[in-house]
Formats: sequence, C-alpha cells, structure tokens
Amino acid sequence: MGKYAAPGQPGSVVTYRDRYDHFIGGEHVPPAKGEYFANPTPVTGEEFTEIARGTAEDVDRALDAAHGAARAWGRTSPADRANVLNKVADRIEANLEALAVAETWENGKPIRETLAADLPLAVDHFRYFAGVIRAQEGGISQIDEDLVAYHFQEPLGVVGQIIPWNFPLLMAVWKLAPALAAGNAVVLKPAEQTPASIHVLMDLIADLLPPGVVNVVNGFGVEAGKPLASSRRVAKVAFTGETTTGRLIMQYASENIIPVTLELGGKSPNLFFSDVAAQRDAFYDKALEGFTMFALNQGEVCTCPSRALIQSEIYDQFLGDALERTRAIKQGNPLDTETMIGAQASNDQLEKILSYIDIGKQEGARVLTGGERADLGGELSGGYYVTPTVFEGHNKMRIFQEEIFGPVVAVTSFSDYDDALKTANDTLYGLGAGVWSRDGSVAYRAGRDIQAGRVWVNNYHAYPAHAAFGGYKQSGIGRENHRVMLDHYQQTKNLLVSYSPNAL
Ligand code: NAD
Repeated sequence: MGKYAAPGQPGSVVTYRDRYDHFIGGEHVPPAKGEYFANPTPVTGEEFTEIARGTAEDVDRALDAAHGAARAWGRTSPADRANVLNKVADRIEANLEALAVAETWENGKPIRETLAADLPLAVDHFRYFAGVIRAQEGGISQIDEDLVAYHFQEPLGVVGQIIPWNFPLLMAVWKLAPALAAGNAVVLKPAEQTPASIHVLMDLIADLLPPGVVNVVNGFGVEAGKPLASSRRVAKVAFTGETTTGRLIMQYASENIIPVTLELGGKSPNLFFSDVAAQRDAFYDKALEGFTMFALNQGEVCTCPSRALIQSEIYDQFLGDALERTRAIKQGNPLDTETMIGAQASNDQLEKILSYIDIGKQEGARVLTGGERADLGGELSGGYYVTPTVFEGHNKMRIFQEEIFGPVVAVTSFSDYDDALKTANDTLYGLGAGVWSRDGSVAYRAGRDIQAGRVWVNNYHAYPAHAAFGGYKQSGIGRENHRVMLDHYQQTKNLLVSYSPNAL
C-alpha cells in the first residue's frame, strides 16, 4: 500500500521520451508530414509527451515493413513463435510495475487495477496463445481409397488492428498475441488519447521480435485509422471501438472483400433475482459488489453493467445497501494504491458523461447518488473525475439505451423472470450481462436466454484468456480470447491429393 511517484517526479518507475514517433520495421520513424500532437495525463490534465501524427504515408511505410517481414514470420515453426510469445510475457512480467504506472498515468485508471488485472492478464494472454498455437493440429480426411484431403491453417499475412483508449495495453495484447501466434505481421493503430503506453511496451520488447512483425502507427481515426482499414494491403481488420466507427470499418473493408472482427459498444444488464437477499451472507455481499462493478475502470468498459435490474420484492433493501456500497467507493489519485476509482480517460469523455447525466435528469430519472464532476483539489483539480452515479428510471430512457461509458448505472425493477428477460434484451447491444441468483436453474436459464456473448453468472468482470468474448447484435462480430480466436487470424488451405496410379 502507498503511492507511486508520478512520471517526471523523483522515484518514478517510468521515464517517458519527450516525443514518440511511429514504430516501423523495428525503428522509431518520424511522421512523414512532421506533425506531432500533445498527450495529456487525465490524472492532472498536464501534457507529458508528444506523439507523431500519422497519415496515409506513414501507414504505407508500416505496411511495407510488415509485408517485408510477414513471409519469414509466417514460416517459423509454432514452437519458435511460442518461444517468442513466452519471452514477451516474461519481459512484461519483469517490468510489470513500470507498465502499470504508464497505463495508469496515461488512462487515469487506478494503479491497483493495472497491477492486479490489466498487466497480469496481458502476461497470461501471451502465454495462453503460446500454448494454443503449439497444440493446434490440422486435419486429414480420406475422401476415397486413393484421394486424401489435407487441411492446413495458414496465416492471413499482414493484418490491421485498431484499438480504443479504455484498456490501451490489454486491448493491444488481446489483438497482438493471437495474430502473432498464428504467424501474421501486424500494423497497429492505438487510440489518439492513449498511444504512449504501447510505445513503452514496444521499447521493452522490440529486441524479441523480428523487425517489421509488429508496427505501430500513431494518429487520429480518419487520418491514420481509415487508410489502414481501407488498404488493399491488409488481409483483415480487427477493430475495437464504438459501434458507429465499427460500421465505417466494415464499409472500408468491404471495398477489398476482407474480413473484419469488431468488438463494439454495450449496454449490459445486471440482473438481481429476489433470492439474492434470502440471507445477508457472503453471497449477498458478493452480489452487492457485483452491482458496484459499474464503476470499475471509471465505467469505461464495453461490458460495464450499466443497467441494474432488481426484482421488486428486494428492490428497496438491495438498492439501499448497494447505494451505501457505492458511496464507499474511494475516489482519488490513481497512483495511490488505495484508490478504487480514478480519472476518466480524456476531457472529451468527461464532458460526454456529464452531458448524459444532464440528459438523465431532463428525462425525469432520479439521481440517487453522485451525478456530478468530482473536484479532488490540489494537483488533481485539473484532472477528469466523475463521482459514481446511480440513476433510477425506466428502460425506455436514453440513459438505459445509449452507451455512456462512465461510472453511471441506471436502475429499474422487474416483476418476474419474463419481465426481467424482456427488459434485459430490450437493447440494440448484446455484449455482456450479469445474472445473480442462488437458484441454479434460474441462473442457467437466464444465462441462456439473455442475448449477449458473455453472461457472468454470480460474478462479473472476469476476463480469463481461455473464455470466448464478443458481441451479439450491434456489439460486434467475432470473438476475442480463447483458441477460437485463431480462426479469425488464419485461413484454411486444402490440398486434395490423389495417390492413385491410374489415369482419371
Ligand atoms: P472509437 O470508435 O472512437 O475509436 C476507436 C479507435 O478507432 C481509435 O483508435 C480511433 O482513432 C479509431 N477510429 C476512429 N474513427 C475511425 C475511422 N473513421 N477509421 C478508422 N479508425 C477510426 O472508440 P473509443 O471511444 O476509442 O472507444 C470506446 C468504445 O470502444 C466504446 O464504445 C466501447 O464500448 C468500445 N469497446 C469495446 C470493447 C469490446 O471488446 N467490445 C472493448 C473496449 C472498448
């Protein structure tokens, strides 16, 4: 317990460069147009480094480097690739504190989360895909006595990856580990709000990767992301971000008939059935904690349980206890290990959340706690902080239907199972959901009936590498994590071989 020194201060475990160029072909490459943009920390609002502003020319250079490296990398043995991935994991683990501080400083999330979750999950992800690729096998079918079909899984070649700012390192790792395991070379574009921590990572692991296998082009969506997603020289685009942007990515990719995987927005329901309150025991406590998960990562999580549905019989009691828990969430300097909720990632995001709080009030929803910007004073007064906010209203309201992406939960009640499921599924999205019940049959049925790719039953916000993750409906296409993800980074080659000595 204690407080980590801020970068730039004595004792800090992270030292940033004054500026970050692109990382192309294993080298730091300045932007073709020579422009840079400022990168502020949400913790205090101060600029801490500047970042190359990428354009189509930079993307092209990165694609040249990736194409130069893809063939050799794709031909390495699975064992060799697994060794590289394991070394990357070891290197991250050996530098876990520095990377955790970098992630916290750039994104604003509490250090206790980056230390305990973001970075350990990143390490495990590389190790998981190192194991999975070694265990992958092709298939052989005997078509008839002399005719045999061999099935090989081949890399796609060069893939484009575009990621958001809410888990900068983990989102990068979720995409890099399976792509590299499958033998692809990558051009990755980080979010413009959080590009630096990825360069801190690249500085640490560059010597482990053949030059050109991973390239990072910084920049804004239309200037750098669009040329990447529209390029004829990528074989696939993997995107995580907003649903509206996902729609554009699909359009760009359709021009070149290449596959996309899209991890998009959500408005996840968290269902609390009445038996949860049958006793005030450890299970009840766990369910209350499940409610407060809306504030994890400042609510900037695609699976944020942003709609809490509580059965009428226990509504007053459960909500009363949940509000008490919510008010006890400790907000403060993200570098303090006791802080439970830190800063929103950017000023734009802060303003978006505050505008949704206004919309909720105008719609007639009731603020039960929070509902305002938090001024933490001193050096943090320029930072982007919002108090955890609980609204009471109904599912037709905009705050129940639109993704706010902040520490805001909208609460309503349900009468019975059918009512619960109807409300839970009354959304455009289908990414995550939570079900809390002591009755295994209710929990199982609800888990199966909710239209979402990930339903947590009696837990929430766990992201093991070997559990498939992804969206139904407008929350996306494809899955991340789990070995099924290799399917998105490989194509099937079939050799149909005749061993017959006879003429056809
Ligand atoms: P965003 O869509 O604004 O940006 C994501 C990335 O796309 C950024 O790198 C951005 O520069 C780039 N981009 C923007 N416009 C582009 C364009 N026209 N062409 C190419 N690239 C473009 O999303 P965001 O605000 O950074 O992230 C928050 C969103 O991400 C939320 O909706 C959240 O739910 C979603 N998200 C989803 C998952 C998931 O796994 N489903 C995980 C994390 C975040």
